[in-house]
Amino acid sequence: MSYSISYNANPQLLSVGQLTLDSIAELFHYADMLRPVASRVKVCRILEGAVLANLFFEASTRTRISFGAAFSRLGGAVCDTTGFTFSSMAKGESISDTSRVISGYVDAIVVRHPEKGAVSEFAAATNLPLINGGDGPGEHPSQALLDLYTIINEFSRVGKSINGSHIAMVGDLKYGRTVHSLIQLLSLYKGIKFTLISPTSLQMPSYILDAVEHSGNVIEQRTSFGEELKGIDIIYATRIQKERFTSEEVEGYSPNFQVNKSFIEAHCKSNAIVMHPLPRDSREEAYDLSTDLDSDPRLAIFRQTDNGVPIRMALFSMLMGVESQIERNLRNATWKSPKFIGPNDHFALRE
Ligand code: ASP
Repeated sequence: MSYSISYNANPQLLSVGQLTLDSIAELFHYADMLRPVASRVKVCRILEGAVLANLFFEASTRTRISFGAAFSRLGGAVCDTTGFTFSSMAKGESISDTSRVISGYVDAIVVRHPEKGAVSEFAAATNLPLINGGDGPGEHPSQALLDLYTIINEFSRVGKSINGSHIAMVGDLKYGRTVHSLIQLLSLYKGIKFTLISPTSLQMPSYILDAVEHSGNVIEQRTSFGEELKGIDIIYATRIQKERFTSEEVEGYSPNFQVNKSFIEAHCKSNAIVMHPLPRDSREEAYDLSTDLDSDPRLAIFRQTDNGVPIRMALFSMLMGVESQIERNLRNATWKSPKFIGPNDHFALRE
């Protein structure tokens, strides 16, 4: 059997480098079909009887819960493990033994691991569907897909296209795996100007810059915002990944890097969107994305997190080969959920 998304002929997603505009369009088509399931209007049980191992050897809230929710909403069951301490890897078990053992118990695997490349070691020891849930400072492909899905949805409301847009990324571009995946995914489009803003010590790795430049899109790197920075369509803020380095490296990161209302007014188009993979660091000295934008309709962060569920349901459907069963398995939900999940959600209903 051949899969639209595959790694060494197995239905696995390790990197955005495996994706094409066609496979992404197919995935987003299924995500659109499954959106009513994510928003609790419909139910769909195409994975009834299947079991997911959701293996998180590093901190996570939204990725772990949304993968688990996605699998459960398709009728499957989820086994979670969190942290090294409670796994046999703390007893010295290898990644490949762990992967093979778990593959005997479940039907699909999601893995997050603090080391870049560790998830591909997991993948090499199993033929099961497997998704990289974040490998250290490497990649986070499902986050990039939900980000792209969000951008397409937000842009279609105001008649904008990704081709030719101005996209700025701010913060820790060296260790932030979400921006590593997202910039490569966006490079499938044409005529984009990327402005990358970070202290010199936290700049985007050169192997990623090379790949983006190879795609023909333009990159400008900056160490501060600067008055001449104008016309941004998407501002993507990131958290400083303190867990990945010594504090010296953060030298040069100051309050001037904070994305807030005055930044938006000065540098962005009036219909720009503000994104962040979350969590945002709410400690004062973090200078992460400001809360002064929380009731601003341009802030798309919770639409991003909400989109994680349909995207992950669509991924499971395709990797487990049940996507053709979605349509005939949709039924009305028996319970009612609030129309707006959060207190600021109604602000999003703008043109
Ligand atoms: N949640 C994202 C990740 O796991 C972003 C972050 O932690 O800053 O990479």
